[in-house]
Amino acid sequence: MIDRDAHQHRPLCVLGSTGSIGVSTLDVARHLSIPVHTLTAHTRLEALAEQARVHGVQRVVCARGEDVGRLRGLLADQPHIEVCGGAAALCEAAGDEHCPTVVTAIVGGAGLEPTLAAVRSGKRVAIANKEPLVMAGELITAEAMHYGATLLPVDSEHSAIFQCLEHHRQSDISQLLLTASGGPFRTIHNLSQVTVEQALNHPNWSMGAKITIDSATLMNKALEVIEAHHLFAIDVSRIEVVVHPQSIIHSLVAFADGSLMAQLGAPDMRTPIQYALTWPYHRSGPVACPDLLAIARLDFETPDHKRFPALELGRHCAQLGGIAPVIFNAANEVAVERFLAQDIRFVDITHGIAEAVDALSSAKYGHSLEDILAADAEARSWLTGWQPR
Ligand code: NDP
Ligand code: MG
Repeated sequence: MIDRDAHQHRPLCVLGSTGSIGVSTLDVARHLSIPVHTLTAHTRLEALAEQARVHGVQRVVCARGEDVGRLRGLLADQPHIEVCGGAAALCEAAGDEHCPTVVTAIVGGAGLEPTLAAVRSGKRVAIANKEPLVMAGELITAEAMHYGATLLPVDSEHSAIFQCLEHHRQSDISQLLLTASGGPFRTIHNLSQVTVEQALNHPNWSMGAKITIDSATLMNKALEVIEAHHLFAIDVSRIEVVVHPQSIIHSLVAFADGSLMAQLGAPDMRTPIQYALTWPYHRSGPVACPDLLAIARLDFETPDHKRFPALELGRHCAQLGGIAPVIFNAANEVAVERFLAQDIRFVDITHGIAEAVDALSSAKYGHSLEDILAADAEARSWLTGWQPR
């Protein structure tokens, strides 16, 4: 018998539960009565302890081993909750057989090893954390195949494409079209003086700081092109980006016969998160259908590659292959941190990444996890020492 409520019997592990995607995931879990087994966080330990209490979890993990004592103190009234910490504990939690679904909502390359641990335990892995796919897409997809894991996209564009592709043949696809809101600077011509506050003010989406800056540079879309390339096994030359300021169409698939399929929804991450948890079923949840008459119009534009060179740079790195996407991602993570700390200007983010890619992408690394981590570390250190001209 088909059980359309099977999600209610699949306890969750949410990696990065205190962030924007983590909090939205827990809201979806509450609406759909999905049990939550394990939560993990990095710095926001009070928030983690409160989530653990509210959701009645079995285990909490902090990313730093030295925080275990403090976290245990915050949960002194919940002695049945297991408290652990450190990199190995994160991977152990991601691979724990008690959680058949893992949501990867850590930000950045820090999520790579926990993502691999979830994949290697053959689970349903709902992937929000896109940077590991950019760094190690071949490895993650090969391991998913080998261990029988199901990769379910949470990123709204990839969820849209995933839904458009269901019941269709790979060979019938002519192109994937990723939509981009254009970010807060879509209509600002001179980006040399824009501030951190302006860059953090996204017009449509409320998200963590790193991805909000990535949306302002269009780096997020560059990462998403590479993410789509790995998730859907399509060459980057067949992945296009269309600016769509309303963020109602989340992405489209063009088929060989001229059909274009799209998925529409409110700009609310709870919709794609929910579909990753309830797939292959669409269940009633916290988000309402958008009102087309209230929206009234949908606009489309070509991205401005002069003002937003990150998109073409990302495509170039994907085509170079090898270690180039690792350098691209790591340099971006450090450049964004430096911009947020007001150490470099907004336009320097992409300049720094381009110089890092030129300097390091032909280096001696292979494809193993160790090589990926070593190249990642080298690019981080390079960009930390980089000075804008
Ligand atoms: P946030 O910054 O809001 O949250 C990040 C989470 O990861 C927090 O729980 C944080 O813990 C934890 N974390 C941070 N650093 C580490 C670390 N070194 N080790 C372990 N855990 C860590 O990010 P978002 O929720 O915005 O984004 C998460 C991922 O999802 C990103 O990869 C992003 O690109 C992707 N994504 C996000 C979307 C969104 O709408 N936000 C949309 C689509 C994709 P703590 O808070 O305790 O420090
Ligand atoms: Mg997205």
